[in-house]
Amino acid sequence: MSANSFSGERSRHASIAIAVTLVVCLTLLLKPLDFTISAFQSKLFDRDASGEIVLLSVAAGADADKTARTLNSAVRNLQENGARRIFVDASLIENGSPATNNDLLRVLRSNPQDVQAFYPSPESGDEEVDQTRIDVTRFRGLNTLNSRLNRDFLNFAWSVPAVANDGRTTLGHALADTEKKRDQVAIDVTIDPDSIPRIDLTMPLTSQWDSVRGKTAVIAGKRTADDVRLVKSGSEQAAVAHILAAETLLAKRGQSIPVGFLPLIFGLLLYGCAQFSSKRRRKVAYILLIASMGALVPITALLGVQAFFSYPMVMLGIYAALRSVSLYEQRHLLVDSITGLPNFAALRRDLRQTDETRQIGVAVIKILRLDGIFATLTLREKRHYLKMIARRLAVVDPTQKVYFDDGKYFAFLTQDAGETENKSHLTGLRAIVSQPVEVAGRLIDVAITIGGDFRFEDSGEDRLSSAISAADQAREAFRPVFLVSDFENSEDHWDHGLTSRLAEALAQDRIKIKLQPQVDLRTSQFVGAEALARWKDESGGEIPPASFIPQCERMGRLDELTKRVLERSLNSLQVLQNAGHDLPISINLSAIQLVDDRIVEIIESRIASSGIVPSKLKLEITETARIEDFAAARSVMEKLRALGISFSLDDFGVGSANLEAVQRLPFHELKIDRCFVSELRECKMSRAIVSGVLRLAESANISTVAEGIGDIETYDLLADMGCERGQGFFIARPQVLSQLVSTLDLRKGGLFHKSVG
Ligand code: C2E
Ligand code: MG
Ligand code: MG
Repeated sequence: MSANSFSGERSRHASIAIAVTLVVCLTLLLKPLDFTISAFQSKLFDRDASGEIVLLSVAAGADADKTARTLNSAVRNLQENGARRIFVDASLIENGSPATNNDLLRVLRSNPQDVQAFYPSPESGDEEVDQTRIDVTRFRGLNTLNSRLNRDFLNFAWSVPAVANDGRTTLGHALADTEKKRDQVAIDVTIDPDSIPRIDLTMPLTSQWDSVRGKTAVIAGKRTADDVRLVKSGSEQAAVAHILAAETLLAKRGQSIPVGFLPLIFGLLLYGCAQFSSKRRRKVAYILLIASMGALVPITALLGVQAFFSYPMVMLGIYAALRSVSLYEQRHLLVDSITGLPNFAALRRDLRQTDETRQIGVAVIKILRLDGIFATLTLREKRHYLKMIARRLAVVDPTQKVYFDDGKYFAFLTQDAGETENKSHLTGLRAIVSQPVEVAGRLIDVAITIGGDFRFEDSGEDRLSSAISAADQAREAFRPVFLVSDFENSEDHWDHGLTSRLAEALAQDRIKIKLQPQVDLRTSQFVGAEALARWKDESGGEIPPASFIPQCERMGRLDELTKRVLERSLNSLQVLQNAGHDLPISINLSAIQLVDDRIVEIIESRIASSGIVPSKLKLEITETARIEDFAAARSVMEKLRALGISFSLDDFGVGSANLEAVQRLPFHELKIDRCFVSELRECKMSRAIVSGVLRLAESANISTVAEGIGDIETYDLLADMGCERGQGFFIARPQVLSQLVSTLDLRKGGLFHKSVG
């Protein structure tokens, strides 16, 4: 899927580049670039003019009659010296006295083939050419030529049409006088304008007339207003452009490639290149593409063919820029720095780009106890270890794209194959990946859990976060591969509507607590209370913690829940103290919150601002079986203990809390699970277990609490067995603070057991 999605992105970039170029084609913005390329072409080759066309210049303006007389004598001299054809700038004829002018007009009329006049005619709306300079009526009946030039906005002349807008032949085409007529000639930029023979009529002439024998002569006035820019020589008389056009025609050059042709061809080629999925082939294709364009620059110059390269160049430039931005993002923002693998931001992007109908599931692989493993490895070895795991994940399909993020999660996208197949596929994969990896000659264990989400009604983003959560909740020994659908089917509630309502409740601080008192079983005095999170949703219904706490975890907001519960508990402690009840409060903390120091900061800062003595706070750690890194958990607990906080091991004795936790972590208290307590009276085994736990606690110097005391018999039994404290509906239900204060007031000094009894 990865290869497809990237070629899709490349095609999109190619299309954008082509589209932008087409739009730019319609503007003239790229002219300066074309000029630069043409200037380069003009420097590559140097061709001389044929020498058949001679330019004679007269200064126009100054002394009008003198100019006219110079002109007349020049025409005569040219005729006498055998010039083949003579072309005269008509505006010069306007300058002289009537006699001089009529004289010349007579010559023109008597030799209409050999002597022709040319003058520009303005296009409609063109005010630059001063038509009043010429009395066109004088030339009626004569074959006159048009010397107007098409210039661009930078005053460059690029080409000369055969016929001007007014229907007259242009000077350039008439000068060439070739048999084969062409509609248009692109001025060949390689012809050197300096190689055109020139005669300056303002200088005294003697011997030069002989050099025009058999040649074509163009007599033109020098007027800076008419000057045009030429690629090879800068500013020139307009007649020079016509002479160059004629020279181009004579050399049978000057064809031009239509403006849209090169962008079209290179656009198609670019689009084709973008389709190669192999990086190497693509690279070769791009190089060939650029090289062929580069080669076309001198080739067209050599052939004298005019082509506009700016458009395809800009197109390639836009494409290159789009690709660079995308590659930069991939390299720096979407890639994990250790493994070089795409990270989860890349995964989210890919998920957004996948076709929703393709039923792509997300599998997340969590590497367990990585901190311990990495403690002994160098960076290179760490990288090797992770890369080996990534390679194994792609063992079935080498094109499989594997993602890595957050220092311990791998992920990949996989096609849904049905519930049982998905599970067996992931289970098989786990067997492959869990083989030890050899790093620097040592075999290092790989312990993983896998979470998968194949529910397509959810967004890709949701699927990723629930797959991470599933990998977190999977137990290495108990259930290493955990699909979110398992979660849905299990007794844990997985209500999707709940997620957004819960987020809202957290944001609006609508999570409250109830406090359930604990008593000393020997004295029956209240000695503490447990804070239990309570959430009443908008409709007033109370949602049990067993439902919303897993959701909180899945949303990654357990710490936020703890903050709320902690703040309310600290407030309650304050209120209780003010009312003269000096009890500690226990709050529940999931063991997975002990992975780093975040929780230490949360608790420390809250306690500091509340002014409550830290020893008034106890933390009940639930789900201790999920602790992967005991060393880390211990260090977090020790930091909290240093503040004066004590720890209780909640639900002790059932699956989620075990002896290993007692052995390895600094607990002050064991909280015997309700399931043993509730069956204490009837079940011998429960009694045996509870008395075993009590003995264990006593010899380890840890105190004990029994939870879920439901009747007086159990209460007495536990007291007799030596359990120190108790909690349960028989003693008191969880209650709001004001209720607890009244309960405590009522019982103040009194003995709980006796008053109930
Ligand atoms: P837990 O910490 O073991 O809390 C005791 C649970 O047993 C409470 O359920 C309490 O209402 C219930 N209980 C107490 N006495 C009796 C009894 O005599 N009979 C019966 N049948 N139940 C009794 P609750 O409030 O529904 O809480 C369930 C669990 O949710 C808690 O078990 C705790 O693990 C978790 N929890 C509650 N608040 C928080 C919290 O703020 N953070 C975390 N991480 N977990 C919490
Ligand atoms: Mg508890
Ligand atoms: Mg409990």
